[in-house]
Amino acid sequence: MIVVMRVGSPEDEVTRLSTEFANWGLTPEKIVGQHKVVIGLVGETANLDEEQIQELSPWIESVLRVERPYKRASREFRHGEASEVWVDTPNGKVAFGENHPVVIVAGPCSVENEEMIVETALKVKAAGAKFLRGGAYKPRTSPYAFQGHGESALGLLAQAREASGLGIITEVMDTADVDKVGEVADVLQVGARNMQNFPLLKKVGAQSKPVLLKRGMSSTIDEWLMAAEYVLAAGNSNVILCERGIRTYDRAYTRNTLDVSVVPVLRSLTHLPIMLDPSHGTGRWEYVPAMAKASIAAGTDSLMIEVHPNPQKALSDGPQSLTPERFENLIQELAVIGKAVERWETPQMAVV
Ligand code: PEP
Ligand code: MN
Repeated sequence: MIVVMRVGSPEDEVTRLSTEFANWGLTPEKIVGQHKVVIGLVGETANLDEEQIQELSPWIESVLRVERPYKRASREFRHGEASEVWVDTPNGKVAFGENHPVVIVAGPCSVENEEMIVETALKVKAAGAKFLRGGAYKPRTSPYAFQGHGESALGLLAQAREASGLGIITEVMDTADVDKVGEVADVLQVGARNMQNFPLLKKVGAQSKPVLLKRGMSSTIDEWLMAAEYVLAAGNSNVILCERGIRTYDRAYTRNTLDVSVVPVLRSLTHLPIMLDPSHGTGRWEYVPAMAKASIAAGTDSLMIEVHPNPQKALSDGPQSLTPERFENLIQELAVIGKAVERWETPQMAVV
C-alpha cells in the first residue's frame, strides 16, 4: 500500500504518520520523489481500510493499494517514478536509470591473468565503458570446466580498477564470499543460476554495494522481480536488473534468446534500472552488435558486453566475446542510436 502525500507536506507530518504506521506493525518506507513524498507500507495491509488511512491527515493526497506480489520493486511503490542507482567508481559517480545516459559495462567473461585484465580494462575504457566486468568466481555447467581463479582474481580486478579508474562488476556465488567480493567490486553481480538463491539474495541485500541481478535463464518476469524484492526487503535499494537471454526451444543458432521485450514490460512494472546483456543473450559475437543496437533502441539503461583480447584463447565464453577493436567499432555504431534516443553521453570517448 502506498500513501501519497500532498506537495509541500511538512516533514513532521510524514514522520508522525510513519510512527503511527510502525505502531500498527507495518514497515513504512519514506520515498522522496521529484515532486512528492510517498510512504510505502509493507506488511499485513490486506485488512486496512484506505479511507481510514486517508482520515489520518489532511496532508494525505491519496492511498493506493499495490496489487502486485512484489511491493518495493513495483513502479507504483515509487508513485510511477523511475529510481536511479548511483555507483561510486574511481572516476566519479555513475548513474544507472531511465533519466541518464546508457552505461556501458564491458570486459572478459573470466579474469584470466593480470596482463589481459589490465589491457582489456584500458581498452574498453578508451572506447567509452564506465565499468569493467570479469568473473573471479565462475558458475560453470561442468565441474571440470575452468571455475575462475577465485580470490587471486579479485586482486587482479583491484589492479585493473586502479590502472583504469573503471568501476568493477563481478559475480558473487557464495554467501561466504560476499564481504570479500564487496571489498573489490563496486557492483555485486548475482548470476542467472543464482537468481533464486534466497540466502544469497538476503546476504547481498544486507550489505551496501549495489546489486546487479541477472534474470534466471528460465525465470518469469514475476519471479525475477520477486528475487529483486528479496534484496530490496533486506534493506538494499540499489538493484539493477539484467536480462541475459532466456531458454527457448531453438538453441541451434543462438545460445539463448535475448528478450528485448522486457524493456517496455519492466518499465511498466518496476522503477528499477535495466541492463541488457547481448553476449550471453546470443552466445555469438557476430550477433552481439545487432542486439546491442536493438537494446538501446528499445530503451535499456545499460549494456553488458563481453570483450576479450584474444577470444579464441579465452578460458570461458570466447565464442561470444568481441575483440577490443570490434568493441570500439560497436561503440561508434551505438553512439548513433544512443544519440537518436537522447541517451548518449557526449563525449562517450574517454581519455585514458
Ligand atoms: C557472466 O556474466 O559471465 C555469467 C556467467 O552470466 P549469467 O549468469 O547470465 O550466465
Ligand atoms: Mn560469460
